Amino acid sequence: MLKNDLLEQWDRETFFHPSTHLAEFARGNLAQRVITGGSGCHIVDRDGNRHLDAFAGLYCVNVGYGRAEIAEAIAEQARELAYYHAYVGHGTEASITLSKMILDRAPDHMSKVYFGLSGSDANETNIKLIWYYNNILGRPEKKKIISRWRGYHGSGLMTGSLTGLELFHKKFDLPLAQVVHTEAPYYFRRTDLDQSEAEFVAHCVAELEDLIEQEGADTIAAFIGEPVLGTGGIVPPPAGYWPAIQAVLDKHDILLIADEVVTGFGRLGSMFGSDHYGIKPDLITIAKGLTSAYAPLSGSIVSDRMWRVLEQGTDENGPIGHGWTYSAHPIGAAAGVANLKLLNALDLITNAGAVGQYLTAQMADALADHPHVGEVRGEGMLCAVELVREREGRVFFDASEKIGPQVAAAMAESGVIARAMPQGDIIGFAPPFCLSQKEADEIVDATRQAIETVLT
Ligand code: PMP
Repeated sequence: MLKNDLLEQWDRETFFHPSTHLAEFARGNLAQRVITGGSGCHIVDRDGNRHLDAFAGLYCVNVGYGRAEIAEAIAEQARELAYYHAYVGHGTEASITLSKMILDRAPDHMSKVYFGLSGSDANETNIKLIWYYNNILGRPEKKKIISRWRGYHGSGLMTGSLTGLELFHKKFDLPLAQVVHTEAPYYFRRTDLDQSEAEFVAHCVAELEDLIEQEGADTIAAFIGEPVLGTGGIVPPPAGYWPAIQAVLDKHDILLIADEVVTGFGRLGSMFGSDHYGIKPDLITIAKGLTSAYAPLSGSIVSDRMWRVLEQGTDENGPIGHGWTYSAHPIGAAAGVANLKLLNALDLITNAGAVGQYLTAQMADALADHPHVGEVRGEGMLCAVELVREREGRVFFDASEKIGPQVAAAMAESGVIARAMPQGDIIGFAPPFCLSQKEADEIVDATRQAIETVLT
């Protein structure tokens, strides 16, 4: 094993870390954490410290770390056939089997799976398919995409544009012109404090209607949203939000993309967020939980009605000009098959629902009366604690105080990893589905203590 100081030196000299303050890193002000192992809900670093990972990596290691079944499936696939492409009708047993397993789990009206490697490229695929679809239907003007402020859909050119967080636009010349944003269903951040939840939903719907009218329904192709806002703050939607939004989209013949990169395959305690909230999407984006991040793999699940048009398009125009070298990579597909089997065999989605609910309830019990806790919220195995300067009148901290990052850092010191969400002082939790009640209690204790440390 390399000496730590040499590895640290190489890290500083050669490694461009994503989503990192580059200058602070160069100055040595950010922790250089090298992770070497993991088991269940825990990871281990190079110094031998064990941490309870209450964010499952980046909410992706859903079955937990160290699953031999998936490691073996990957090794076996690599030995047998590490790669073959999926162009021009080719496939592998693993990729075909995984398509079948996904469709068996997806809502009934879904028809096919297009495989990619990341949530970002899957959303990029979705937008291209939507543009192709409207061109085939002879509606070349119907191309704009509506996204929500605080939505997260990736960090490519189009997907970074769909993402509704300032950091992902600033200095990148984004968003692109085809993207327009509307209000997020974030009741705690509503501007009118007197509004009831139902009034707030009506307000979100009215904003959407206004935007469609202003832009012209014949220019708007689709609406994209996460069933539960994720990176934008972990915010479950208010009751009635999704049916009301869906009705507006149906009225104007606007397609709906459910971005289930976080919620797909069980994080809400249901197979898909679309089932959970009664959403009927035209496309579903999947990634993270598809393989529990044991190998990179994503997908766009395409509905019957879109599929029929795409098929017709190739009759008129030749093969569809969209493919990645690594689409349906057999190693990713083998990991996906093993992962979905494990979710079933261990009934992990049921555990995610039950222990997730316990985690949020315990967190609320421990913190709901704290003077600097504005809200504790959650759904399934997703939970968030939003910190405020004052509860009365909901006064937020200034971003420059970095209260959220300080609390997350204090938690990490105590051996529990949570995530300071990028916009607002929000501590996010998305543990692996195998979390026990005892581990949930540890997360709650660490959160309470870290808030005390930073805010007293
Ligand atoms: N969509 C959602 C809802 C996500 O949370 C993410 C990643 N956090 C993405 C898309 C992008 O996925 P990736 O980072 O794999 O490109």
